[in-house]
Amino acid sequence: MTTVVYPGTFDPFTNGHADIVKRAAALFPRVIVGVAANARKAPLFALDERVALAEQALEGVSGVAVIGFGTLLMDFIHHHKARVIVRGLRALSDFEYEFQMAGMNRRLDPTIETLFLPAAEPDGALSSSFVKEIAALGGDVGPFVHPAVKAALTAALR
Ligand code: ADP
Repeated sequence: MTTVVYPGTFDPFTNGHADIVKRAAALFPRVIVGVAANARKAPLFALDERVALAEQALEGVSGVAVIGFGTLLMDFIHHHKARVIVRGLRALSDFEYEFQMAGMNRRLDPTIETLFLPAAEPDGALSSSFVKEIAALGGDVGPFVHPAVKAALTAALR
């Protein structure tokens, strides 16, 4: 029963994130979406809002739990007895950061493996930052996020 953790800021959760979760859930019996507090990144949405939006976007996907955390990722992984960290890779530009993070996590605990899933079309170029920018400028983010996320963006940026 391998549990995997898909960690991220998810500010907010997009269709690209949902795609990674669904593909991970097809491979592993239990997927925990770990929503990092990440105050350093000054997120638009509070941690509990980011958790609630991810939950709504993933309603009906079985084997998935969304849990917020403010600790070291490795402590969160151990607490939930997970064995694998899942991350999505979009462009080459993601690679260096992701590779460094995987390396640091391996130094912290070599028994925990990082697994990368390539972003899938058509959501492979999606990012939370672009979605926020489009919403702030009055563009329609409907094609990129769950309706609950779209409504939350409209409310937050009004
Ligand atoms: P972080 O702040 O940890 O990078 P994000 O919420 O931006 O958190 O992203 C979480 C993970 O999801 C990262 O591995 C990122 O590369 C991946 N990701 C983001 N957008 C997409 C997408 N459109 N398709 C696939 N993976 C994605």
